[in-house]
Amino acid sequence: MRVLIVEDDRPLARAMAIMLRAGGDEGAVASTGREALDALGGAEWDVVILDLGLPDMDGVHVLRALRGWSSVPVVVLSARHEADQKVRALDSGADDYVTKPFNVDELRARLRVVTRRAEGPVERRVVSTPGFTVDLARRIVIRDGAEVGVTPTEWRLLELLARNPDATVDRETLLDGLRGRSVPHQSHYIRVYMQQLRSKLEPVPSQPRFLVTVPGRGYRLDTGSTGSAPGDS
Ligand code: CA
Repeated sequence: MRVLIVEDDRPLARAMAIMLRAGGDEGAVASTGREALDALGGAEWDVVILDLGLPDMDGVHVLRALRGWSSVPVVVLSARHEADQKVRALDSGADDYVTKPFNVDELRARLRVVTRRAEGPVERRVVSTPGFTVDLARRIVIRDGAEVGVTPTEWRLLELLARNPDATVDRETLLDGLRGRSVPHQSHYIRVYMQQLRSKLEPVPSQPRFLVTVPGRGYRLDTGSTGSAPGDS
């Protein structure tokens, strides 16, 4: 198992990493929310241990951003006085929680349970529109039977939308998902990358049918299954 440990208490993080390695698993540590989002966007993980009290942002924020593109199992760590946060974390898509101070055997058991549960039905791997197909497993986009060349940042943006087809993905989630890719934290850049994607994938890029702007909120990948109206790019 590849486990990402998101914890700013370094001795505790180190102890968890040692515990995992002793059991034959791999444990990497991120000690801030930002480091966590970078690590989560840059590699595949089997499970995430997420402390809720991080120095730069609320762990729940990390979780919400992560759920914009990934269903990787997450076990949150919370202190006893953080009961409200724990509820918010579960509402935001955490799979389980462990209250500090905890016993390593208990943590290990919970990790096993959530990863076993995640081995159930796999998430949708291919998302098709009448104009193009996004293959999430092979990480390619196909139009008219041929692979379309997209940059890593364009792919990331497309992937974030394709993991939630026909649903609005808000700008904050997209920006968080692009972190660690040298993309300045400004909505303006999302619009630029979206225009590039439209020029490669839309029949009429100025009147997008599939990569749709949702005014004031973000963007949506319309699969065309419900009939789509042009966005207002
Ligand atoms: Ca902490």
